Amino acid sequence: MERLQKVIAYAGVASRRKAEQLILEGKVKVNGKTVKELGTKVSNSDVIEVNGVKLEKEDKVYYLLYKPRGVISAVTDDKGRKTVTDLFNNVPERIFPVGRLDYDTTGLLLLTNDGEFAYQMTHPKFKIDKTYVARVKGVPTIDGLKKLQRGIKLEDGKTAPAKVSMTSFDEKAGKAICEITIHEGRNRQVRRMFEAIGTPVVKLKRERFAFLDLTGLNPGEYRQLTKHEVKLLR
Ligand code: URA
Repeated sequence: MERLQKVIAYAGVASRRKAEQLILEGKVKVNGKTVKELGTKVSNSDVIEVNGVKLEKEDKVYYLLYKPRGVISAVTDDKGRKTVTDLFNNVPERIFPVGRLDYDTTGLLLLTNDGEFAYQMTHPKFKIDKTYVARVKGVPTIDGLKKLQRGIKLEDGKTAPAKVSMTSFDEKAGKAICEITIHEGRNRQVRRMFEAIGTPVVKLKRERFAFLDLTGLNPGEYRQLTKHEVKLLR
């Protein structure tokens, strides 16, 4: 069961906000009855009409993007900055990013028009590993890395245990490269974790998402996931 406004938005008829407006204006029917309640839940078998037109179910699509720096992980941006969906050509479906990567973070980002899939990929209870390579300022101590592994207190609570390793360091230059795997996706989480042990991130890339990686793609390029990959992910 999904919220009515979400289903309308995912079907590509309108944005979520516009869908809410349509419901409130009495322009939406479910199984022939006008529905004005925003919280109404509908299932796949319900027939939804918007302005007297039956909602066509859009085919679900799944993309893997190598996000470049300097792009917002959103569908639109009120400041007019470039968004990840601007990188897609000839994709008629209303795709949106699955979770977010920061403006300056590069790497693997999934996009889809399947809300349930997006939920499954991002909610920590599904424990999907996301692996990042972080170049940090300074060299983390063993104690610092252990703290990240066990979980570290941030202002929004303790993080779940993580896999962390330092792949190289240069004591003289005062920098190191670390690999970290987490399954949470809090705002700027990896940056805040390294900040908390005194070695702030200067460059961040998501290398892997579950078993997926960036093989064959350059920054800004994307490919569709195969049916098999989608099945394995859920
Ligand atoms: N953690 C961050 O700090 N930034 C990202 O973009 C992703 C994870």
